[in-house]
Amino acid sequence: MTASSVDDGLNPHGGPIFPRGHALLTNSLLNKGTAFTERERDTMGLRGLLPPRVFTIEEQLHRVYGNFRRKPDALEKYIFLTTLQNRNETLFYKLVQEHAEEMIPIIYTPTVGQACLEYGAIFRQPRGLFISIRERGRVAEILRHWPHPDVRMIVVTDGERILGLGDLGALGMGIPVGKLSLYTACAGLHPCYCLPITLDVGTDNTKLHEDPLYIGLNQKRVRGAEYDAFVQEFVEAVQQTYPKALLQWEDFGNTNAFRLLHQYRHRICSFNDDIQGTASVALAGIMAGLRLAGGHLRDQKLLFFGAGEAGTGIADLHAATVRLEGLSEAEARARCWFVDSQGLVVRSRLGKLAGHKVPYAHDHPFVATLAEAIETVKPTVLIGVSGQARAFNRDIVARMAALNQRPIIFALSNPTSKAECTAEEAYQWTGGRVIYASGSPFPPGTFGGQPYVPGQGNNVYIFPGVGLGALVCEATQITDEMFLTAAKTLASTVTAEDLALGRIYPAISNIREVSIQIAAAVAEEAHRAGLARRPRPADLVEDIRTRMFEPNYRDYV
Ligand code: NAD
Repeated sequence: MTASSVDDGLNPHGGPIFPRGHALLTNSLLNKGTAFTERERDTMGLRGLLPPRVFTIEEQLHRVYGNFRRKPDALEKYIFLTTLQNRNETLFYKLVQEHAEEMIPIIYTPTVGQACLEYGAIFRQPRGLFISIRERGRVAEILRHWPHPDVRMIVVTDGERILGLGDLGALGMGIPVGKLSLYTACAGLHPCYCLPITLDVGTDNTKLHEDPLYIGLNQKRVRGAEYDAFVQEFVEAVQQTYPKALLQWEDFGNTNAFRLLHQYRHRICSFNDDIQGTASVALAGIMAGLRLAGGHLRDQKLLFFGAGEAGTGIADLHAATVRLEGLSEAEARARCWFVDSQGLVVRSRLGKLAGHKVPYAHDHPFVATLAEAIETVKPTVLIGVSGQARAFNRDIVARMAALNQRPIIFALSNPTSKAECTAEEAYQWTGGRVIYASGSPFPPGTFGGQPYVPGQGNNVYIFPGVGLGALVCEATQITDEMFLTAAKTLASTVTAEDLALGRIYPAISNIREVSIQIAAAVAEEAHRAGLARRPRPADLVEDIRTRMFEPNYRDYV
């Protein structure tokens, strides 16, 4: 990933022919729009194709930011940004970087959720690769249709569990596209390394079957052996076509997500952000929260509402962490309890429980409700990952406040409408004592005259840094230890000023610096574990900094 290889990759034809004229203006990676210089206009066949005045990127930024602000709602802003990205990626990333706090909720949660729901209706131009199960046997050929020869980061979904919105089939493409934009904006991964992919195996969402604007295969989801063979062909085709690529599994339904992760994580450098990235960001939040609440991680009792990818992912990483602090496997698992749609996960339910819940089926009487579970488990930390809006009502939150001086309550379900409780409710119902984080952002507020800033346990704090760290050292695998080191690093970036505002994550405006620190820690861990294919540079942080994509124009002549 040297500067020169990035430059090679910049030529989207992968060859020596640099586009000219109209082809240059319609190439989003190379286009500079009105910022093409006089010399470039003369030598690259652009004269007359642009209005005469030459603008700087700062002047262009001023214009596009004004246009962005004029859009009446979040979805219109999303459409505007997508169009800009398809026209001029440098300017798009400049805008996102300069106004990260404002842009990230548009290109990712919560707006991306709405954008996915309406992806068919707002569809203008394809981005990424759509590979449908009808193309079995031709996956490698399709991967080669992508114009950039040196793909390093693939985010792939089959659209079955998009955020907390369920099965959106091919409309889920908004997620890989958005996540990869965050890789570039937050961790400086060059856009030419990034490839979003949707594996379209159909959808079980009958509303989409009836939607005349639906863009995907109009059939029920293919499952079982045929699905597995398709995914296997895809993984093998990726290894063959892009041998240096890291594969991020994204928003698969939980029966496939756990299976695919376990099946492939040692065969191809890959991870599942919904399971492992979420785990890392939540663990970081607990670590930072304990700086306010006091106490050790190993002494905490976690109660999860929702026992899917996010919940059991967090519990697995938490258990691995406290094991490293000296607890036995049994002691570590006993720190984590689950309530799922049927009630408390306990031994008497064994036989009917999905595999990922079994390690947390404790020997304890069954109770049916969350309120009863809180009374009997007495958690110090309550984590909502159920997709059930407003499940943490006044009674639930007050119970946590009665048990704990500083209750830690995370309402992580996305998008905003699905959060188990709002920040304001959590502050009100605990008399301002809560340590709170959500999955989607909530605005700052005041309680008792004291300002607070709700933390957002957004995976964006973790995955760009982890991916960048793995790529710079060319890691062969992504391990749990890497996610643990990422969590510790993230927690360490939370300042005393953040904590004074109740904020257990750093400000999003610091995200690039946070990603650099995480990338360095992850690469260090890869070197320590013997999983790095590149030799360790003398100064990891400096090495990472120099490799990051900066959204500035370069001179072509
Ligand atoms: P999932 O489908 O794998 O799991 C959802 C779980 O909730 C399942 O165990 C299900 O049984 C349980 N559930 C459903 N209805 C319930 C009910 N009425 N009572 C109790 N439990 C119930 O989904 P997931 O990947 O675990 O994601 C869950 C939520 O967490 C989603 O809304 C997602 O957006 C959110 N999430 C947030 C973050 C983050 O904030 N960083 C990261 C990942 C996921």
